[in-house]
Amino acid sequence: MSTNTTTAKQLEVQRIAEILSKAIAQQRLRPGTRLVESQLVDALGANRNHVQVALQRLAMQRIVTIEPNRGAMVSQPTAKEAREVFIARRAIERAIVESITPDVMRTHRQRISSHMRNERVATASEDRRAIVRELSEFHLILGEICGNSVLSEILSNLMVRSSLIVALYQRNEVPSCQCDEHEAIINALEAGDTVQAAEIMQEHLDDLEGVLDLDDADAGEINLRQVLSDL
Ligand SMILES: [Zn+2]
Repeated sequence: MSTNTTTAKQLEVQRIAEILSKAIAQQRLRPGTRLVESQLVDALGANRNHVQVALQRLAMQRIVTIEPNRGAMVSQPTAKEAREVFIARRAIERAIVESITPDVMRTHRQRISSHMRNERVATASEDRRAIVRELSEFHLILGEICGNSVLSEILSNLMVRSSLIVALYQRNEVPSCQCDEHEAIINALEAGDTVQAAEIMQEHLDDLEGVLDLDDADAGEINLRQVLSDL
């Protein structure tokens, strides 16, 4: 295989993986949705081999689960995995805000303020998809501007998995993030106060985890016994 063909294949696999990741992050594809290869081939105008490789890649990132003889589906993170994702987000997002200087904020001022506008418009609307997209975009933008591509890559993966976790475990329909907290993080970063920015980010992530029903989800396994013994 020539280098050109390899590159073309890699780009195509990446395109497919990105479309699927985005659809999952925006909750267009819910946890547990079957990802039937032939349907993806049709829907994405892609070839079967590329679709398979993209699904394998997403499986390595824990975004997709491939079961022998049953094919691929959108992952359904357990409550334990959900807690682990939030522990990882606290560590990664702390490192991200700690590396953002006022200079970085100045360089990206336009992008940040236009994002904050979109975020306010979205949260004022009833458009759940737009709300999910914009609130998660805030975190991704900080990852992108922090200048550390490793942190940014890890965060992208954690954000897609967070979206699955929210879809599975969030108790009610309230938006996952509060614009005010985002605003406060931005203000602290612009003032060069990374300690405060990191503190607000930690509280923010605690709040996000706090509205999830992770205890009940674990209890589900124990409840089964209880439910059966009552019969
Ligand atoms: Zn947020």
